[in-house]
Amino acid sequence: MSVLIVGSTALDSIKTPKAENPRLLGGSASHAAVAASFFAPVRMVGIVGEDFPRKYLSLYRRHDIDLAGLQIQPGKTFHWAGEYEENMNNRRTLATELGVFETFSPDLPEAYRKTPYVLLANIGPDLQHHVLDQMRKPKFVVADTMDLWISIARPSLLRLLKRIDGFVLNDSEARSLTGEDNVFVALRRLHQLGPSHVIVKLGSHGSVLSGPRGLFLCPAYPLSRVVDPTGAGDSFVGGLMGWLAAAGGKVDAHIRKAMVHGSVVASFCCEGFGLTRTDRTPREAIDRRVAELTQWAAF
Ligand code: AMP
Repeated sequence: MSVLIVGSTALDSIKTPKAENPRLLGGSASHAAVAASFFAPVRMVGIVGEDFPRKYLSLYRRHDIDLAGLQIQPGKTFHWAGEYEENMNNRRTLATELGVFETFSPDLPEAYRKTPYVLLANIGPDLQHHVLDQMRKPKFVVADTMDLWISIARPSLLRLLKRIDGFVLNDSEARSLTGEDNVFVALRRLHQLGPSHVIVKLGSHGSVLSGPRGLFLCPAYPLSRVVDPTGAGDSFVGGLMGWLAAAGGKVDAHIRKAMVHGSVVASFCCEGFGLTRTDRTPREAIDRRVAELTQWAAF
């Protein structure tokens, strides 16, 4: 089964203590779509400007991503610039230029509206509502968010939580949305806001799921060198949704394995700038890391 992914399709300029790379392919939808494409067919909804390099369209196509929902409009592609500190965990946003995203209000292609698995990747919650409004009885809808929307669009985000099945956010976002420091208490509060499945991401410490079958502690793949963690969260949730769509059946029978696969795709994302490493990762390499994690986390 397919996954529909809406989110940002961006050009990212990323600075780390070791290197600087302008105009990489980025955006939450790009990272999530490539990650999901390892496991299932992907339909992407987004917008880019006329400045969007053709080689990036070729990259999407190489991963068999359906681009019928990607608009190319006069104007500039969404541009995000960020800088990492020495520890590669703390990140500062240097610039966010919305460009063609400013007025983006997509009409989904007819064929997209019945997609069973829907990922509302990080983008303003009004746009996430707009896409969800057009879907016909999706089977499993997951949304991601970021600190920006929690501070500037909280009411819309809270309304969205009542409409989705799964919510994915990182620990600092969970803290700021619930006002609660303890991650397990925050998980309970987040359930009270609507979603049956809540996943809190803990960076290099993995993630925690709270769902109808209780808790699951998902490990992160241990990496000795992180080149650029941008998009790791999007890769995690993209891989998770791709795995769920490929598995079909009951979400709760597959969600743990789905998280582990998402976690492994995210590890590849961190080993290169932007999507460069993920793009050239063979499926067998993902399977190998999943097998290692399965062994290292078993007891
Ligand atoms: P992550 O590292 O998983 O938080 O995701 C980073 C990606 O989010 C980058 O590729 C950016 O292009 C994208 N991004 C940054 N700011 C925003 C924003 N305000 N809305 C949507 N996407 C964004």
